[in-house]
Amino acid sequence: MLSYSNLEGRKSLYLMLDPELILSLFAEDLPKPEHWESRYPMRNLPPGAIVTRFGPSPTGFLHTGGVYTANVAKNLARHSGGVYFVRIEDTDQAREVAESRAQFASAFEFFSIQSDEDDETGQYGPYEQSKRSLIYHTYARDLLLRDQAYLCFCTREELTELTEKQQAAKVGSGYYGEWAICRHLSSDEVAQRLNAGKTYTVRFRSQGDESRRISFEDLIRGQIEMPENIHDIVLLKSSDQDPRLPTYHFAHAVDDHLMRVNVVLRGEEWISSVPVHLQLFKALGFDQIPYAHIAPLMKMDGTSRRKLSKRKDSEANVEYYISSGYPAGAVLHYLRGLANSRLAEMSFEESASAPIRLSDCGVAGPIFDLVKLGSISREFIAHLSVDEAFDGLMTWAQSYDPELVEILLADKDLTHRLLTLEREPGAIQRKDLAKWDEFRSVYGIYFASLFTPVMDPADPRFGKVEAEMVRSLARDFADGYQHTSDKDAWFEQIRALAAKHGFAPTAGVYKKAPQDFAGSISDVSNVIRIILTGLTQSPELFRVAQVIGREEVLRRAGSLA
Ligand code: GLU
Repeated sequence: MLSYSNLEGRKSLYLMLDPELILSLFAEDLPKPEHWESRYPMRNLPPGAIVTRFGPSPTGFLHTGGVYTANVAKNLARHSGGVYFVRIEDTDQAREVAESRAQFASAFEFFSIQSDEDDETGQYGPYEQSKRSLIYHTYARDLLLRDQAYLCFCTREELTELTEKQQAAKVGSGYYGEWAICRHLSSDEVAQRLNAGKTYTVRFRSQGDESRRISFEDLIRGQIEMPENIHDIVLLKSSDQDPRLPTYHFAHAVDDHLMRVNVVLRGEEWISSVPVHLQLFKALGFDQIPYAHIAPLMKMDGTSRRKLSKRKDSEANVEYYISSGYPAGAVLHYLRGLANSRLAEMSFEESASAPIRLSDCGVAGPIFDLVKLGSISREFIAHLSVDEAFDGLMTWAQSYDPELVEILLADKDLTHRLLTLEREPGAIQRKDLAKWDEFRSVYGIYFASLFTPVMDPADPRFGKVEAEMVRSLARDFADGYQHTSDKDAWFEQIRALAAKHGFAPTAGVYKKAPQDFAGSISDVSNVIRIILTGLTQSPELFRVAQVIGREEVLRRAGSLA
């Protein structure tokens, strides 16, 4: 076998692929590179304008890390007078999940990361890779004609065999140098295989040398140095697919060039591919585009950190936030703060309009913590006006709890009163809601239709107060009930009830001589609390009574009396 180092010598031994043969592999009217270059001119943008893209693959739900990255990308474009667009990277059709696109669309809208351009409005489309196959074909043909690419007929089995041989020889695996079987086929050999109907991929003919190093400036990580790429990576996937689609690497180079992206913001898992990408840009004659590799969101798992994982963590799926009703503003505020910590210190309004700086993005992945998000979200909901909160709640409920919509609309005044309550200074329930799906458990007690009165005087929630006593307290409370808005007067009723039934007026008095009393006043309050709310711990009783109104107080007490 020829060694990698004398490959240059070998090159002159074989004839380059016959151009006619190459042309026969593509549509006759396939445009030349110049066509696409002029079809997609440089963008007419102010100096310093940043063009970013977000390229999710529709192979499952949108990852929270995707929203994180897209939000940074959109922010960079927005603050520089540039453009942010979404490109659906659907070249892996076998792994495509049918619902992904619809989920993406609603998630983009929810998190305000919609594309600035689409097939209708944008000049640089199509914005789905599967619709761009002609463009990739042009450049694949061009590389073939310039001998920067070749046809590879290796089957899956042959590739597996190759890996085994490489393992036995204790050399790095991959399709490179002397191991790259089809790299050395003559034009005749290629023609024979094509005539025999063999399928092929188009591979890059790497000119790399492992002993040389490349260096590039990452906008987040600074200068990075790595060995040159030597792998003849696949550019166009198997010829038996229709359409013949590109690999990620090839599509990245072609698309980001022609769509005139000027900052490639993407996950750090792509850093290792930069050497091959730099070679591809060079071979294609494209200007290099600056990279910004962003660190992934992490999670604490016990005492160790790991990537937030689609497989393990429900919070990695953006659907989780949408369906449980976190306001998008709260999630975005949190994500912005994780990207640039100075934004976490700002008010919601300030952070929403502040620029994110790539140089302030950390190199280590930030910890994504649901508890922290919960507390941010509580603050966020509490800071909304009553109308904004009502709209947020209704919008969520329309999709995820239609029954609640009916209930809220049937008692719109009550809903408003409740949301107002939470916003009053010194109110009892401030910041109790982190997400809208908590509304039922937090506010359900106020709605006649959501509240199930306690019917059994021996219910364990009444604790040590006996059933007969519970019944008498309920009856007397209902009989003499005064629905007053004077807080002291309202509580006077509880005090009178306690005195009448032999309960001590304070816990202190009770403690001194427990044998003299049926219990203390707190036992009476608890009975009334359970009657009115069903809860052993509840918001202030007086407030609850004010919100639900006289009739509902009597209905609840009456169910036991
Ligand atoms: N489709 C790629 C992914 O899902 C996008 C990477 C990139 O932004 O270049 O990871």
